[in-house]
Amino acid sequence: MRSICYIPSIDCLVYRSTEYWLGQFAQRSGMPATDVVFPAIVEAEPAYPSRYGQTAARLGQFNWLGQWVQDARHQHPQLRVWAAINPTISSLSNGMIATRDQWNEPMSDTCINHVVVQQMLTQIINELADLQVDGITFDLTDLYPNSTSSRYPKLDQGEQLIQNSCFCTYCIDKFAEISQFQLDPEHFRGKRNITRHILRASDQGATFIELRDSWMDSLDVDSLVRFSAARGFIERDDPHREDDGRQLLCYANARAAVTADAIARLRQTAYHRGLRTAVVLGTAQFDISSGTSMAALVNRSASDEYWSSDAETRVNIREHPLVIFNERRATYAYNALFANLRTLEDPREYSNEADRIGHVISITGAAIEHSPFSSSSCAVLQIIPNIAGIAGIPYTMQDFIEWIRQRHTDRQFPQRRMMLILSHVRNPAPDERRGGAAGRDPFA
Ligand SMILES: [Zn+2]
Repeated sequence: MRSICYIPSIDCLVYRSTEYWLGQFAQRSGMPATDVVFPAIVEAEPAYPSRYGQTAARLGQFNWLGQWVQDARHQHPQLRVWAAINPTISSLSNGMIATRDQWNEPMSDTCINHVVVQQMLTQIINELADLQVDGITFDLTDLYPNSTSSRYPKLDQGEQLIQNSCFCTYCIDKFAEISQFQLDPEHFRGKRNITRHILRASDQGATFIELRDSWMDSLDVDSLVRFSAARGFIERDDPHREDDGRQLLCYANARAAVTADAIARLRQTAYHRGLRTAVVLGTAQFDISSGTSMAALVNRSASDEYWSSDAETRVNIREHPLVIFNERRATYAYNALFANLRTLEDPREYSNEADRIGHVISITGAAIEHSPFSSSSCAVLQIIPNIAGIAGIPYTMQDFIEWIRQRHTDRQFPQRRMMLILSHVRNPAPDERRGGAAGRDPFA
């Protein structure tokens, strides 16, 4: 049984060692780690000197990733070492390689189908191979953002439209090349947006429905429409529900294949450098933020391994090991948390600072407080057949509080902002506290 300690952000390793996280992981899961994942390029700058940028200023110009890998190899020769890439590489994005919404506006992350982004990722994989990692993980949990945006204000009755992605020329060309579906941004504009069956605006951005493999395989519009209406995403008397539902299923099949094709090309580069690849998925089903499904990825042999929050039973685990990611939606909420914390380090005052901080901490709550990762959940997963291993993020609320305090000590957060952040953090439950600190006020 594999057990994978996933370290989600460079920030985790600024104040704490690899040994600390491996220890936390063993305590949390009830088993020692067989694999460790280090952040190479996730929500921020690279963790090593890359052709595409130096390490973050606060880390200093040093090959941190190289050092983490060497230390891990020295102290734990049996450990398999992975480097994590978030292929949206937001820190390297610009208007020419960014994802585009249905009105052709550039967004903040890069598009994996863009030829230049593929070149950059190829180069990054080669750099990571030189650092002697064993494998690379591609985090697909938020490859194509689909949510509300302040750029598009609410309509008259408070209704808000969703900003979809991606409609860049590389996506449109790739759809034409490998599918029958013509990607037309017009189908995603206005009230008849075909994603209304599975996406609905909410206070947090958007709520969503995942598309089941069975609906996609047989274009089962009836089941999609009935479930979508039952969940309140579409009106029961929507006159276009059938036609648009069919369009949505055809779109999803094409998008899933296009994304799998892009990942499969990256796997080829990794394979030629002797590296394994793993994809990180929030779910095995088609999720519109990932723009793919496990079935589509397996169909194109896009990866050596699949790490997902839930399972696709058709995966042959001899050929494609299936690891259960012991977090809801895998890395999704942690990525958002660390990206948002970075924006809070901006010393300028925000007009709505309290609201903004409250929002960040509500994401923290979802990611950390309600994390299912525990020794009991791991014990259950170990007896379920056809699972090759578990992955988990050993990050607790106590780690978060200590990190905020350290950043204040290092003058990244002014006192007032630190207090505002901590005022939103719920006191950790006694079993989350460490070192006999039970009963002590974490803010004292
Ligand atoms: Zn695109």
